[in-house]
Amino acid sequence: MTRPNGSAKKNNSTKKIERLLRQLLIELGENPDREGLIQTPARMAEMYEEIFGGYRMNAELEVSFSEETDAIIAKNIEFYSMCEHHMLPFYGKIHIAYIPSGKVFGISKLARLVEKYARRMQIQERLTKQIADEIIRTDIKGVLVIAEAEHLCMKMRGVKNDSLIVTVCHRGIMEEQRQLRDQVLSLIYASKPEMRSV
Ligand SMILES: [Zn+2]
Repeated sequence: MTRPNGSAKKNNSTKKIERLLRQLLIELGENPDREGLIQTPARMAEMYEEIFGGYRMNAELEVSFSEETDAIIAKNIEFYSMCEHHMLPFYGKIHIAYIPSGKVFGISKLARLVEKYARRMQIQERLTKQIADEIIRTDIKGVLVIAEAEHLCMKMRGVKNDSLIVTVCHRGIMEEQRQLRDQVLSLIYASKPEMRSV
């Protein structure tokens, strides 16, 4: 059978995921052979390859440009991830601020790094830490990562809590120097003066 998007071969794990999703539809009380659902397991299996692609991504941060600068802030990096407790999306924005030592990362490298950790089963706190930890392992002085996200598992079910969850992680001199951290935070939240400190 050929797939609508024309991609040639399905690997074994994709086929297994398809079978499991078909079984899931049956267990939910559905008829997986009806018109609207017949392609759903295949579509979902293919989608999972993309949204869980972070496990196979390598997003090297090494390529950088030589610059003299104090702090660099990459604001509003969009991300989509999957809550590992409910397998429902959580999504929002990540801000990365770092103090370089002579070199800076390209913005696209930081966006790739966010994808590498977002596209897998996650919790927001770990996502924030993993990004900060990978950046601090390179030759920089300090990093601050903030993630702001909405969680569908909170919106769609249970108490239907609609709040925005904010997680923060700082490493290196961003951890040691509160004044520096406050300066950077005021730049990130220039339009939201109520959030100046963590
Ligand atoms: Zn959840």
